[in-house]
Parts: sequence; structure tokens; C-alpha cells
Amino acid sequence: MLKYVYDFFEGDRSRADLLGGKGANLAEMTRLGLPVPPGFTISTAACRAYLAQGAPPAGLFDEVNAHLREVEARLGRWLGDRHDPLLLAVRSGGRFSMPGMMETILDIGLNDATVGGLAAHSGDERFAWDSYRRLIQMFGRTVHGVPAEEFERELAAVLAAAGPGGPGAAALRDLVETYKKVYAHHVGHDFPQSPHEQLYLAIRSVFESWNADRAVLYRRREHIPDDLGTAVNVMAMVFGNLGPDSGTGVAFTRDPATGAPGVYGDYLPDAQGEDVVAGIRNTVGLPELERIDPVSFRRLTEIMRTLERHYRDLCDVEFTIERGKLWMLQTRVGKRTPAAAFVIAAQLVDEGLISADEALHRVSGGQLAQLMFPGFDLDAAPVPLATGVGASPGAAVGRVVFDSAAAAEATEPVILVRRETNPDDLPGMIAAQGVLTSRGGKTSHAAVVARGMGRTCVCGAEAVRIDPERGEFTVGDRVVRAGDVISIDGSTGRVYAGSVPVRPSPVARYLAGELSPEADPLVAAVHRLLGHADAVRRLGVRANADTPADARRARAFGAGGIGLCRTEHMFLGERRELVERLILADTPAERDAALAALLPLQRADFVGILAAMDGLPVTIRLIDPPLHEFLPPLHELTARVARAEALGEDPGRDGALLVAVRRMHEANPMLGLRGVRLGLVVPGLFAMQVRAVAEAAAQRLRDGGDPRPEIMVPLVGDVRELTAVRIEAERVLAGVEGAPEIPIGTMIEVPRAALTAGEIAAEARFFSFGTNDLTQTAWAFSRDDVEGAFFGAYLERGIFPVSPFESIDTAGVGRLVRLAVAEGRAARPELTVGVCGEHGGDPDSVEFFAEVGLDYVSCSPYRIPIARLAAGRAAVRPADAPSDSR
Ligand code: ADP
Ligand code: MG
Ligand code: MG
Repeated sequence: MLKYVYDFFEGDRSRADLLGGKGANLAEMTRLGLPVPPGFTISTAACRAYLAQGAPPAGLFDEVNAHLREVEARLGRWLGDRHDPLLLAVRSGGRFSMPGMMETILDIGLNDATVGGLAAHSGDERFAWDSYRRLIQMFGRTVHGVPAEEFERELAAVLAAAGPGGPGAAALRDLVETYKKVYAHHVGHDFPQSPHEQLYLAIRSVFESWNADRAVLYRRREHIPDDLGTAVNVMAMVFGNLGPDSGTGVAFTRDPATGAPGVYGDYLPDAQGEDVVAGIRNTVGLPELERIDPVSFRRLTEIMRTLERHYRDLCDVEFTIERGKLWMLQTRVGKRTPAAAFVIAAQLVDEGLISADEALHRVSGGQLAQLMFPGFDLDAAPVPLATGVGASPGAAVGRVVFDSAAAAEATEPVILVRRETNPDDLPGMIAAQGVLTSRGGKTSHAAVVARGMGRTCVCGAEAVRIDPERGEFTVGDRVVRAGDVISIDGSTGRVYAGSVPVRPSPVARYLAGELSPEADPLVAAVHRLLGHADAVRRLGVRANADTPADARRARAFGAGGIGLCRTEHMFLGERRELVERLILADTPAERDAALAALLPLQRADFVGILAAMDGLPVTIRLIDPPLHEFLPPLHELTARVARAEALGEDPGRDGALLVAVRRMHEANPMLGLRGVRLGLVVPGLFAMQVRAVAEAAAQRLRDGGDPRPEIMVPLVGDVRELTAVRIEAERVLAGVEGAPEIPIGTMIEVPRAALTAGEIAAEARFFSFGTNDLTQTAWAFSRDDVEGAFFGAYLERGIFPVSPFESIDTAGVGRLVRLAVAEGRAARPELTVGVCGEHGGDPDSVEFFAEVGLDYVSCSPYRIPIARLAAGRAAVRPADAPSDSR
């Protein structure tokens, strides 16, 4: 027969899949000899079987009874004994902690007969009746969905009628009678008097709560599989509400906010666990417990040290003291802020608990990214107005606008406030400092679009009631009008009234070289872990940088070169006019003149960038966008020409430009005349750029520099395109005196290039995967169109777990990368392979690229530290310790 039930003595923490996180850790504490009330865990397999067949699997309750008898024998107390009854807690707990699941039912085993035994044995009649009414309430609510208010109303009446000492035993006994009526009224039959029936019903309803709407929704949002099931923990009750020498609390082995060492927590004397969360009375800090009950306090700190050494990580615990005796009710590797994650990882290395390699797996690139955003100055002690989902990090301050058109026209910083957003809101979202919505979560339209463009966003702040007609929103009785200033924190999801001062991140300042590593413990920890990542990583990290200033910043952030230097911005601004001349040229002579005018400007740009990256590779991409992007827009030219004609004037150059724009119009510019295609049909364009690179390098050499430019050809799909460009480029290079050897390579950013990578490698010294375009072309997505239009729906429906523009689609786009690396290296073993799409700065993608064996990733300067850390993590094995950081 299958085994479904495990005594706490049988399990351990490695079996969280079977026992759930809570059960596995209760077992682990039991094995460590810590004071855990006896009990057992019904496995997730039992839950899966129950849900599959809609009934308890055969023999389940027999097994439960057998384990219950062991618990009873160990304690010498019996469930349902009318003199000294054993009471039970039934607690749900899956592999991943999941708010939205069924809650705990305490005090199972009380009925009209055993309540007297509990009173007699505890010597506290009030306590016994209070426990009974708690049971009816929790059981009614969680098993049968009786609204909590129904009970609360009756309780409030009794509390109001009672004197300062609280209700007496008689009043509580009457309350139990009232509760039973409320229960029977709602449920249709009486509260079950059989303790065993109470237990079985509680277990079944934990199983069923796995499929409750709230739980399903939560799992979808957190990408937790639907088929795991939950475990059920059944354990003996202990009582923190037996007078002043009893109580209950929660504690952390280090400060989960800052990582500071020491024991942190809250304690509530004379209370049961649920009271702490309910906030009925104010808790006191743990130092107070040291005063109230020094013996228990010392024992608790001792146990917490044991747990930390054992788990080798920050732990949190729930505990209860029953008449001076300490009981441990729960522990787990505790959640923490990104700052605490770094500080604690560094501390644990210092304390010899973990290795530096392991420390890299205690933090993530995503956490480092959070630490680099500016934050609100919390010393200003702002009180949040409301809290939603932190959907796109950053700290934004601005005036409230409810209308996207108004946001788009605003001249001052604004925060766009909407119930939810849709594609029509795009202009407003672009213009706003930040976006606040009252509905939707991390996959809502607002969240997806804001993340895509790096805009601060708080979603689903449900307390915010928006009334666009009246031009205001309310939170409770606070009214915020259009034009009022608010501040939103896209990391924590907090919304503040007024302008909260923004403080630059100390980590970002350290990375920029403005703060020494000793400045504070967080900066020191980041310094330490990044240093280790650099020491172990095999993946290079370069920057996408187009200007000397960006190049310098990237270098400070640790870039080992430039992986993508775009040249198109060098055609903008005042130089646009030269591009117009190039396009309008009627004769080769006019065209050559326009190119000759561009040459010195480009050369000067390259000199600056090569100087900033002296000694490191700089991959310069030849011009990529369609040339008509450099001309005025069609509607503008049409209007100008029409006006001139109406006034009887000569439209002059505008007329010629209009003709050119009409001629060059493309239905799908992304798939049109761009990249290498431009180089092949516009004579002299690429040659001019290549010459500018070569002359710049020659000049740097003459000035004593160490320039290392590389020339990269965009959008190649066929090797013959590359051959043609290479031959022309080499002819130009050969003609520049004093130029160094300049390798020529290609981007791999269309599927055909990846599929013919072997042929292309014969002509390319290096590959650089342009994963933005490769994602667009592999999926047939136009990014600008799809992200706002339907990515939210796709994410919501689970079609993809994360946007393929955020994190590389390993199965599809990733497979093209893999194939191209293998076939490219087979054709040319010394081929250098990198990636320069935005994925180069995404931690998960970086780990994939490391695994595929790329030589480097290239990303925006601000993502460089994140890529360094991710590359370091990828180079060392994950720690074997199971982590339930989810
Ligand atoms: P959650 O996952 O919401 O914390 P728990 O199952 O941990 O739910 O339990 C909720 C509350 O019940 C906790 O505060 C805990 O202290 C209390 N509790 C759990 N088990 C027992 C027990 N055996 N005796 C007394 N109180 C308990
Ligand atoms: Mg708990
Ligand atoms: Mg591209």
C-alpha cells in the first residue's frame, strides 16, 4: 500500500516536494531535537490523489488514525478525552508558500463534552470556552466559508458588554451557543461534535483549498505549477493564551530588512498565534521577552543559532510559550530584501558557514538590479498612502494626471493614474515619470509596457479609488486631485502623497566609482560578491555604448569592451542635413561630396570612443536603420509643401524631400531596406564608415593609444551579402595608412543567418547575436506593436511565462543561438561569439548564454554589474542546500 502519512520523526527538509515546506521543516526541527509539538504530515501525494478522484484515497484515514494514536501515546492524552483532551492544529503547506490557500484550524477536538475537560485541566474556564468559540469560528470560516463578520459581530457585542477585565466564562459559554447557531444557520447542520469527524473534514478542506480561485490565481501569477498539491500538517496544540507566563511570537535570525546580525521579532504575551497577525493588541519587541521570561528568551536565541548554523542561512520562526515552556511551531529560510540578501551572504562567508561560490547563489542579478535604482529617502519617514504591486522598479515623483493625452502634453513631471491601461495610453505612459493603476498585477498591460520601457510602475493598488470624471482619486477618506503631487515606488509598490525626496542608490554610486567599498555594509557586500563573480566567470561582459561618455561609464561599471557601438546616432542632429544631401544626390559626385562631409565627423566620433575604451575591443556596427528614418516624416513634408504651394511659393528642397520620402516609403520598415542591404545598394556608404573607423584607429595609434576596433555588419541573412561587404571593406582598410588589423564580423539576427551559420562563419571573424531582432524575426513579432497590444493577455494566459524580449526564449530563439554557435565554431574554431541584444543584461538569459558557451554578453552600461554577477553564478555550481526563497 502507498504511504501517505509521515510522522515528524520520519521526514527531513530535503523532502519538501512530498511534505510541503512547512512539514519538511517541522520534521527537520524534530530531527534536530528541538521542542516541536508531536505530529505528522499528510503528503502532497495524498492531496493529488484526493483531487484526482474527488475522495480520500483508500486507507488514508486509517493511516491518519494510526499516526494519531502514536501522538496520543507519546503525550498520554487522547483526542476526544473528556477529562484531559488532546487538541490538534491542522495546517496547510505546499512546496512553495502560498497565501490564498486555506488557513490553519486550531483547537480541533473541542466539543460540548471536552470543553469541560480542558477547563478542568487548564484550571482556566474562560480559556476553554474561548478556545471552543475560536474553533467554531475558524472551522466555520475555512471549511464552510461562513463569513468572518458573522462571528465577529457577535464577538464584538460580547466584548462591548464585558467589563474592563474582558468577558467572563459564562459570557463566553453563551457566545459559543450563539456561534453554534450562526454555524448551523449558514451550514445547514450543527457543528460536528465528533473530534475525529472535525479532523477528517479539516483535512479534506485543506486538500480542496488547493483549487480555490484565490489559490489558482496566485499560482498562475507566480508560475507555480498547478499539479503539486498541498500537504497537511496535523500536530498537537500548545497554548500561548494561558496567562501572563504564556505567549506567542515570530522571530528572524537576522534583520530581514538590512541583514544586520542579531535576533529580531515580535512577541505577544497571553495570546494564540493568529492574534499576532490579527493585530488585536500591540506586540512587543523581543528584548521585552528577555525581560518577561529570560529563560525562554535564552532558549529561543540558542535555538535560532542552531537553526542558522544548520540551514546556513537566515531563518524565521514561529514560536509559542505555554506556561514558561518554549515550543517551536515553524521555521523556514526567511524572505529578505535585496539589500539583506547581499549583506547576509557576505556575513555567512565571513562566518565560515558558506563558501564564496555559494554566496553567489544566495543573491541574484535581479536583486542587484533593484539595488541600483534610486530609492525614496525613508529617513524622511513617509507613510504610504496605499500599496500595490511593485511592477517596474524606480522612484518616481510627479503630478497626478488621469488622462493619457494630458500626460503626453504635460510640461512638468507627471504620474499617470489609471484603473488599468490599454494601448491608447501609450503616449501618456511614455511621457509620464511613472504609472499607477488600481487594477491588475505584474502581467497587466501597464506592467508589461512600463517594464519594457524602463518606466516606474505600481499596479493593482486596490485601495486607490479612481474617479476620472471628478478628477480625483480617494484612498479611504483621503482625496488626491489631479495636479497634486504623489510619489510611487516601483520596487515596493508603495504610493505616497506629496513629494518624497529621492536618494541615489549607494550601490550605483559605488559602481560609478563615487563611493568607496567600505562606505557601508551593503556596498561592501556588493563589492565582495561582484569581485568573486569576476574571479570565477568565464563569460566576458561588454557594453552597448555609442558615445565616449557611455563608454567611460561602462568601463567604470566593469565592461571589458564595447560589444555594440551603433553608428546611427552619428547621422542625427545637425548631420541630418548631410544625410538628406546623400539621399537627394542626383550624381555620383554629389553623393561622394555628402559622404566626404560625413567622414571627418564619424572619424572624430570613433576617436573619442576608442580613446575611452583604450586597450579593449570596440565592436562598431555599420549603419542599420532605413535611411528614410533620417528624413522628416511624410505628413510634415506634405503639409509644408502644400502650404508653400497654396502661397504660390517654391517648396524648394521640401519638394525633393517629399518625392524621396514617398519613393522610399516602406510598409514594414523593420523588414525593408536596412542593415547590410543598405550597404549593398547605397554606393560608398559602408566604405565611408569603414574608412572613418580605420582612420580613427590610425590616429589613436599615432597618439600612443591602443585602439581595438572591430567592424560588424548588421542583418546579414546570406553569406554572399557578407562576402561582398567584406571585400569592399578590406579594400578600404588596405588603403588607410597606419591602421591596425581590424577584424570583420557579422550580427546573427535573422533566422536564416543562424541556420546557415557554418557558411557565414567562413567569412566572419566573429558573430554577435542580435537577440532583439532575432526574437522579432523568429516569432514574427513587431515589438513596438505586440508588447502593448497583447503581451499582457499572453502572459496572463500563460502562453509565455515571461516576455521573450525580457528573457531569452530558450526553446525557440535560444535553439537558433545554440545551432549557430555549434555550426559557426565547427567551421571556424577561433570564432568569437557574443550577444548584444537586451537579453545580454537579463540574469536568466546570461546564465543561458554562459551555458551555450558564448564568449561574452554585451548590454547597456547600467546592466553590466548585473551581467557580471549572473556570469559568476553561471560559472559555479548552485549550492546543494534546498532553498525555498520563493
Ligand atoms: P501560516 O502559514 O499562515 O503562518 P500556520 O499554519 O503557520 O499558518 O499557523 C497559523 C497560526 O497558528 C500561527 O500563528 C501559529 O503560531 C499557530 N499555530 C500553528 N500550529 C499551532 C499549534 N500546534 N499550537 C498552537 N498554535 C499553532
Ligand atoms: Mg506560519
Ligand atoms: Mg538588429
